[in-house]
Amino acid sequence: MSQDCKNALAGYLTTLKSLAYSAPLYDVNQIGGTSASTYVGSFGNGYTTGQLFDMYHHSSLTVVNVPKPGIYFRDPSTFIGANMYLLLHEMMHMAFPYPNSQGDLDQPLANLLGIYNRGGEGWSAANSRYFNSGCNPAELGP
Ligand SMILES: [Zn+2]
Repeated sequence: MSQDCKNALAGYLTTLKSLAYSAPLYDVNQIGGTSASTYVGSFGNGYTTGQLFDMYHHSSLTVVNVPKPGIYFRDPSTFIGANMYLLLHEMMHMAFPYPNSQGDLDQPLANLLGIYNRGGEGWSAANSRYFNSGCNPAELGP
């Protein structure tokens, strides 16, 4: 992890270290044919896990306050190389889960860290821009 991320996330490093060993990771390539409601409750009614995941068009998703909270993705290669910062982004959703389970986890996380959505980007994209920069302080603010 970059020094900038260590500095920015200093208050969460103990939690992140624990999550590195304990965060539930769900490979949708393995569970995609199962009923989504098993994992995310009524939110997933009528969909398979794969269908629901693909509706979001994200490489990975973190879901909290559901029967199986955790980080969902297709294939472990989602997080290799520089994409470890995507995993850090998702881990921060687990370290700082917003109480509104099925609401947007990205805007509260952005607000926590001082990330603004620039040029009409979504909150998820804003968080990814910041994390993918290695938490460069220049990516904070408007
Ligand atoms: Zn996010």
